[in-house]
Order: sequence, then C-alpha cells, then structure tokens
Amino acid sequence: MVVVQCWDDGVTNDVRLVEILRRHGAKATFNLNPGLHSKGRVETRFKYKGQTVSRLGWDEVRDLYSGFTIANHSLSHPDLANCSMADARRNVKEGRDRLQQHFNQPILGFAYPGGSYNDNVKQVVREAGHTYARTVVPVAQCFPPADPMEFHPNCHHEVTDFWDCYEKARESGVFYFWGHSYEMINDQMWSLFEEKIKRISNDSGSEWGVVADLFAWAGLSRECKGTT
Ligand SMILES: [Zn+2]
Repeated sequence: MVVVQCWDDGVTNDVRLVEILRRHGAKATFNLNPGLHSKGRVETRFKYKGQTVSRLGWDEVRDLYSGFTIANHSLSHPDLANCSMADARRNVKEGRDRLQQHFNQPILGFAYPGGSYNDNVKQVVREAGHTYARTVVPVAQCFPPADPMEFHPNCHHEVTDFWDCYEKARESGVFYFWGHSYEMINDQMWSLFEEKIKRISNDSGSEWGVVADLFAWAGLSRECKGTT
C-alpha cells in the first residue's frame, strides 16, 4: 500500500514535524498559503487550544521543506465557496504562481482552505493547472477518486480509529491522512505521532508516496489536462 500524508498552513510546528519525518524516511506534502507569510515568522490570527500559532518565515520555507512536496492551499486561505468566481480564480492562481516561483517545482496539488468548495471552485482549481484537490471528508477507500478535484482523504491524523482506517485502506492500495502540526500541543502527542510514523515506515507492506504521483501513475493528470 502507498501511504501519503499532507500538512496544511505552513506553521512553525512544521519544524518539529519535518524532523520526525526525516528521521523515519517519510514523504509528505505541505499545503501552503504564500500570501500569509512574511519574510520572518508572524503570529496567525487564531490560537489553537490556547497556544499561539505562528506561520513560518518565507525566508526559511525553502530550506525547511527541502526534499518534500509543496502544494497550493490558495494565496490567503479564503472561504472559496463564498467568493466570487473572479476572486476565487485570482486567489487560487496567484497562490500557485507564487509557490511555483519560490520553490521552483511544479505545483500540482491543491487543498481547499477550510474544506470549502463547490462546483465553481472545483472548476477554478482545475483550470489553474492542479491535478487533484483534497477535501476534509473522510472516506474508507480514497483512491482512485471519482473526481480528482474531490480527493477525499481516509482520515485526519488524530482520529482514534487511525489504525482501523489504515488497515481498511489496504483494499484500495492507498492510505491518505492529513492534519496541522499545531494540533500536537504537548510532548506526549508528538511522541505518539512519531510512533505512528515509525510504525508505517517499518511496515513491509507499505511504502511512503507523494500525493501528486498517484495521479501521474494513474494517468489521471493527462485526463485532467484534457478537460481544461
Ligand atoms: Zn488551512
């Protein structure tokens, strides 16, 4: 089974996450909002369970995420389903353009900010050149999705039945989980997370993969281009 994971929002807690992933040879995709980063680190407008959440400095992201995959989470994290089509188009396209320029890699993936999308948003994301878009809707079998612009993951990393989801996913050959690193608010949560990553890395029946590669392998990216 191919195991893929992605992490949203480009926060400073990703530093600790990346250390763990590197230690266990795990691959991952990071969904970023290039319009929300400053040169240095800045606090976000929200706190999580009383903890201050900060975005990484734009100056440090290239080095930090080196060897990982970057995907688009829009320019500024708006509620896309409630934007005009023109605003959604600009926000999605500019997000992709800036990421492509800064990271010098093709940006093929998208994650809907706050999981917000509708048919217009799907169209905008597809037309901007993405080959898949992740929702936050959990499904037992994630691959292949009926519509790559509605790629539902198997689960969030914190669900209590994580390993059940993992085992059930073997049927489709892909297990996809997601989250935000700021959700790990103490050392115990971090060590549980590290155990998870280690167990997957040590599972001879699994290998880490990159989300966008799934679509390249399935030939779906060609199909997507054909529809734009
Ligand atoms: Zn987000």
